[in-house]
Amino acid sequence: MSHSTTVALVTGASRGIGAAIARKLASTGTDVAFTYQRDEVAAKSVAADIEALGRRALPIQADSADAAAVVAAVDRTAHELGGLHVLVNNAGIFPAKPYEEFTLAEIDRALDIHARAPFVAGQAALAHLGEGGRIISIGSNLTDRALFGGLALYNLSKSALNGYTKALARELGPRGITVNLVQPGPTDTDMNPAAGEHAPTQREFNALGRFGTPDDIADLVAFLAGPSARTITGAVITVDGGTNA
Ligand code: NDP
Repeated sequence: MSHSTTVALVTGASRGIGAAIARKLASTGTDVAFTYQRDEVAAKSVAADIEALGRRALPIQADSADAAAVVAAVDRTAHELGGLHVLVNNAGIFPAKPYEEFTLAEIDRALDIHARAPFVAGQAALAHLGEGGRIISIGSNLTDRALFGGLALYNLSKSALNGYTKALARELGPRGITVNLVQPGPTDTDMNPAAGEHAPTQREFNALGRFGTPDDIADLVAFLAGPSARTITGAVITVDGGTNA
């Protein structure tokens, strides 16, 4: 790579796993743009953390359900931070309920956030990614093994990332761009609190008997984003404490 500073864009990084990824990438010397949906206070706090690490931060309000906003976030990142080398598709929701109850609007929104947004973000990023470029998406261990009911829409939308990752790894390999999928299992965030109502069931399934932390996921993403991971592409890596073992 001919640039001096690496630039990353992380979607959905005002809280949880995305925020941990943004901070971790900053700590490895990366300037970080990130999107969020509505929690501006949290986004400002993540930006301050990135700046305290000596890197540039660019928080962007962009709903991942809005394809134009996602593309604009990619373009703004490249324009304002002088390029783009790493795209992390992390923004996600957890719409769990009985299969019969999902509305068309809910189905569209989950597919737009989990499948269409990574697709168009990757397309827009390609204008900027060169040799050594990285596309990393955050899926879920639940798409390999549905451990309880209510997952029809979450799994429909998240499992798209598996096919996308492999197809894109094949297509972009000749350009030296790697594409990988990280599948967290139970990870302590606002979406899935380790002290939440459904936590005991998840601990029972877990070989280690405990939740992971956002940093557990961020460490792997930072490794995949770095030069040591140059030969890893088309991989699906699960970080779930042995839940699916
Ligand atoms: P949180 O709900 O804790 O945080 C979600 C983050 O994504 C927030 O920053 C939120 O922004 C942002 N976000 C949500 N919806 C949108 C949207 N439409 N557009 C833009 N940003 C959005 O989730 P987690 O950190 O737990 O989850 C991160 C990813 O990891 C998700 O893709 C999730 O499916 C996946 N995952 C999580 C697991 C877990 O156990 N926690 C397990 C397996 C996968 P704002 O603050 O503005 O709301």
